[in-house]
Amino acid sequence: ETASAPAQQQVLRIGTNPTFAPFEFQSPNSSELTGFDMDLARALGKEMGRKVELVNLGFDGLIPALGAGNIDLAISGMTITEARKNAVDFSDPYYTAGLIIMVRPDDNRIKGINDLQGKKIGVQIGTTGANKALTIKGAEVKQFNNADEPNLELANKGVDAVINDQPVIAYYLVSQGGEGKGKMVGEIMEAELYGVAAKKGNQALIKQVNEALAALKKSGEYDKIYKKWFGA
Ligand code: GLN
Repeated sequence: ETASAPAQQQVLRIGTNPTFAPFEFQSPNSSELTGFDMDLARALGKEMGRKVELVNLGFDGLIPALGAGNIDLAISGMTITEARKNAVDFSDPYYTAGLIIMVRPDDNRIKGINDLQGKKIGVQIGTTGANKALTIKGAEVKQFNNADEPNLELANKGVDAVINDQPVIAYYLVSQGGEGKGKMVGEIMEAELYGVAAKKGNQALIKQVNEALAALKKSGEYDKIYKKWFGA
């Protein structure tokens, strides 16, 4: 007999920044976190035989929390990037997104990335959108803690444009109060693949996540969750 429960029965602590609808956000009707990633997180936990505890963190705090061992996994619309691979290990990709620009509906000056030079751009700190904005010549980049804050700043004319993941902007414009407050311009930038992140070196856990993900795809559960949030 050992004092601690075997690893399989220990709670799986999953960190997320729930300001990123439709992937992770506060349910309007309950205290629950909801969204595509949250359904996926719960399904992965079930498949792995682990109870899931969702931990609400800043997006830029997720990788440090993995490193410190405060969470076991991060599921937060996190793009698999070479830079992040230095700090964490990623699962197989589970969703394909990409960045897009949003401006106010009456803005006819900004039609794409080249028109953002010298403009004010709102982004969420620590994201691929922030990194992109920081490469634009002469742009003034305003970085916010949460993903929904740049949208408000755009509506309030504090910035000229927002750069964020296209599915999140699209959901804001139709389902999260953004009707008439913005429009998407230009093309989706390069494809970005979302992955589940674990502490660097925890390949055993990543293997379990990949196996669980494959099982959810095979059983149709992944498709069910996908349809629920993104339609057919
Ligand atoms: N996919 C983007 C990134 O990884 C944004 C993620 C987010 O804001 N939750 O940086």
